[in-house]
Amino acid sequence: MKSIKNGLMAVCMALLFEPVVAQQGVPVHDQQMNAFIGSLIRKMTLDEKIGQLNLLTSTMAVTGPTMQKGYLDDIRAGRCGAILNAYTPDFVRKLQDVAMKETRLHIPLLFGFDVIHGHKTIFPVPLAMASSWDTALIERAARISADEASADGLDWVYSPMVDIARDPRWGRVVEGAGEDTWLGCKIARAYVRGYQSTDLSSDSAVMACVKHFALYGAVEAGREYNVVDMSRRRMFEDYLPPYKAAIDAGAGSVMTSFNTINGIPATADRWLMTDLLRKQWHFNGFVVTDYNAITELIPHGVAGDKAEASALAMHAGVDMDMMGLSYIETLKKLVEENKVPLSEINRAVRNVLVAKYKLGLFKDPYNRMSEQRAKQMIMSDANLSEERETARKSIVLLKNDHEVLPLKKSGTIAVIGPLADDQRDMIGPWSGAGDWHKAVGILEGIRDAVGDKAHILYARGANITDNADIRRQLNASGGNLTPSDQKPEALLSEAVTTAKQADVVIMCLGESQGMTGEAASKADIRIPACQRKLLKAIQAVGKPVVLVLSNGRPLVLTWEEGHVPAILETWFLGTEAGHGIADVLFGDYNPSGKITMSFPYAVGQIPVYYNHKNTGRPRNPDSKYTSKYLDIPNAPLYPFGYGLSYTHFAYSNLKVENPVLHPGETLKVSVTVTNDGNYDGEETVQLYVRDLVGSVTRPVKELRGYQQVFFHKGESKTLHFTLTDNDLSFYNDHMKWTVEPGDFKVFVGGNSRDVLEAPFSIKK
Ligand code: BGC
Repeated sequence: MKSIKNGLMAVCMALLFEPVVAQQGVPVHDQQMNAFIGSLIRKMTLDEKIGQLNLLTSTMAVTGPTMQKGYLDDIRAGRCGAILNAYTPDFVRKLQDVAMKETRLHIPLLFGFDVIHGHKTIFPVPLAMASSWDTALIERAARISADEASADGLDWVYSPMVDIARDPRWGRVVEGAGEDTWLGCKIARAYVRGYQSTDLSSDSAVMACVKHFALYGAVEAGREYNVVDMSRRRMFEDYLPPYKAAIDAGAGSVMTSFNTINGIPATADRWLMTDLLRKQWHFNGFVVTDYNAITELIPHGVAGDKAEASALAMHAGVDMDMMGLSYIETLKKLVEENKVPLSEINRAVRNVLVAKYKLGLFKDPYNRMSEQRAKQMIMSDANLSEERETARKSIVLLKNDHEVLPLKKSGTIAVIGPLADDQRDMIGPWSGAGDWHKAVGILEGIRDAVGDKAHILYARGANITDNADIRRQLNASGGNLTPSDQKPEALLSEAVTTAKQADVVIMCLGESQGMTGEAASKADIRIPACQRKLLKAIQAVGKPVVLVLSNGRPLVLTWEEGHVPAILETWFLGTEAGHGIADVLFGDYNPSGKITMSFPYAVGQIPVYYNHKNTGRPRNPDSKYTSKYLDIPNAPLYPFGYGLSYTHFAYSNLKVENPVLHPGETLKVSVTVTNDGNYDGEETVQLYVRDLVGSVTRPVKELRGYQQVFFHKGESKTLHFTLTDNDLSFYNDHMKWTVEPGDFKVFVGGNSRDVLEAPFSIKK
């Protein structure tokens, strides 16, 4: 091992010390890098260049990752530049050895993986973490994920997913930060900082991959892989900023999306990948496709065969082919036939090699993989305790009539439902290397919390779903979907008997993890039917009921809101889920989460989001010809930013200190918030603005600030916000980012609906 390392070092050093022609204005480090990469590229054959653009997957087996023999031959022959789905220091080292020892140029492999919300310590799903609104917390979770992933041999993670999503039918809303662009940008930056840290070449940093570029969250009808048709204005205002924010934060790579945009598949879209990404945004990392996306240009109907698909993607600006095998099979011939210019191949290979250089792989390709680090830190007590903290901060209290919550650790508590004694679902979808056997289920968390202070009863009550077709489609990947040996009627009556013996009932209902994530769009986003039946039966028993929801998307909870006194949204909270949930149920932590996606009143409202436009005929329930539904309200059941606490916060005294200002001046706003309830607690105080008259229509509210403040019981604080021109700007009728003088409103409150408001104006 040592001798290869030394041999390699010698090659690298020789390259590093090739004479560097000084470039004015380019930092010395970059000049060295450019010289190194330039010299390497000059040594590469066309085959070797194309090999660097080929990303292959290893095969995940129950016992760990394995590599098919053919792939090893590909690495050996220089036909593969990067591997996904391979981890553990031992395994990754073996693969890297092949690249380092057995290839002509000893170019290290790059190891990527879907570390989406944790590597081995699994954190809450991203939509849950977003509900904490705590970007420092999210950054720490990403840092820990990077720490664990890198020790396990990984260099590169396919995260953050920053697709703005307004349609909860789309299963992948679980992977993002929700519906708001401004908050989405903050969260995107936090992930990138956490993964990459301040030095990408350090052994604990991994390269982020911003995905899915672009607009994947807007797939028509929420149906997976579907088309996107969108105006440039909506793109630039609502959907593109989080990608840009991640790139500006230094994200080293970008993943293309599966969808089309106005007729052109993203993976073939030169405007997107080159004009916007490279020229306008100055992105200097590399672009990888999503899985097989180049080859999918054929069924999309823009390419007749793999060769045409490759030429389109390469010309668009796509550098690396993930498992499509299009580049590796067709690019050489395309170059030889002058159908793809060599300059495009050189561009792509350069981008890939620069990433490897920045990650420090040419200096030490074995730097990250470390048994010792892995042993020390993977799932360490410190990581698990950070995950528990993240879990409880991600929980959202949706309803709490008559202060049913927090519960007392006494009496008889019935825990009922198919998600109560369930470990697999707790870690959620996209929990790649996570071991669900180590996850804490809700029942277990409750038992740990109460010890022998209360009597705990348990009944499963129902299967997660009795829909055999959904079970078949989700198959083994779906979570805890195996139906019980007991008949549904027997499960139900056992649960009713159990509830009758209890003082209070905790109902653990929701979705299996496979019902969200990729390829998990749903048209009916209520709790599955058999669980609703169970809930109604238990509700009829007449005991206080607390509904604890596990799920990955906003659900339609209209019946539940009307009938169940307490509802706790716990998403999929990760390894420590059960402990985090018990912390909140028993008041050891006062819930503070706020949803970042509106929960619809009915599926027919979708897309429903808080920052909509007013229309020319805003809703008036008494006037027929206004913008509304005849049968349901316009407003969602729970609006963006909504979430309760065990205490209560009163808002008063909203003041704009300078209600008339000029462009360039700072707006100063203050508000008093008082904890007038019975517990200490944290509140996320949110500030929204509205531009009343613009050259184009403006949303009725836009989030532009928030503060997370802890209040002791009875405590009152005056909070100050400042807003600059940038916070009040938008793309005007000429698509120019500008602030337009005129009348505005500012709103402050604990969610996007219940706010105080005050006017201000900007004078020319
Ligand atoms: C998903 C990506 C993911 C990739 C690699 C694709 O199916 O869309 O989000 O990163 O697979 O696993």
